[in-house]
Amino acid sequence: MTTNRAADAAEDAKAIDVQGLRKAFGELEVLRGVDFSVARGEVVCVIGPSGSGKSTLLRCVNLLEEPSAGRVMVAGTDVTDPDVDIDLVRRRIGMVFQAFNLFPHLTALENLTIAQRRVLRRDRADAERIARANLERVGLSDKAAAYPAQLSGGQQQRVAIARALSMEPELMLFDEPTSALDPELVGDVLAVMRGLAQDGMTMLVVTHEMSFAREVADRVVFMDGGVIVEEGTPEQVVGAPRHERTRTFLARVL
Ligand code: ADP
Ligand code: MG
Repeated sequence: MTTNRAADAAEDAKAIDVQGLRKAFGELEVLRGVDFSVARGEVVCVIGPSGSGKSTLLRCVNLLEEPSAGRVMVAGTDVTDPDVDIDLVRRRIGMVFQAFNLFPHLTALENLTIAQRRVLRRDRADAERIARANLERVGLSDKAAAYPAQLSGGQQQRVAIARALSMEPELMLFDEPTSALDPELVGDVLAVMRGLAQDGMTMLVVTHEMSFAREVADRVVFMDGGVIVEEGTPEQVVGAPRHERTRTFLARVL
């Protein structure tokens, strides 16, 4: 077998590589052939109208949904390979949803240590050290002992981000992380995400926050009707969209 080192290196540089991805729910074709990749350290924002398949795309990346066709590579591992240990792959991917999904009966600190201990088998001292470092990273050092109900929505979402970071993922997926928040709480969450981006985290972010996309994204992907209509730099896609569908969407959200 011949090896092509340059091609291997290029493949290696991709955190996510999606080719010919299709997903149907019964008769409904939600993803109709999606090709895109995210390089290591890159921040890609996915925008598009409700129902265009953005969440389904994210969920196919960590196999919360099983693709109907196509290939999804995550950090060089084909997650659609039936022999792959998907739990191992998922450990490398942090995911933050619109709903924070914190355990209500656990403190912020405990929410951050439980998966570290159960999944990664870290001992209590290590798990707590890492948890405290990540609470600090999201600006919540003083909330370690607080229960979710004692925190604002924005603080809960920052705890959810810190929880994902405590698993030390190679990449982070965000699905409309600020959509459930009161407007005055959105900025703190976006500031945390901006910090992660500056620290070099690979991020795939579904968002309606166009200012975030403009300032933080290396690339913006516009989806509509289960396909990528256009992608490019924020200046290209948000600043000077080429397609009518993109312009129509932006006119509604900007
Ligand atoms: P977006 O995140 O862009 O709003 P989604 O990926 O959530 O879009 O959904 C795309 C389409 O797929 C919608 O029509 C939605 O109703 C449908 N859909 C999503 N998940 C399921 C599911 N589990 N079963 C059936 N239909 C689904
Ligand atoms: Mg969605």
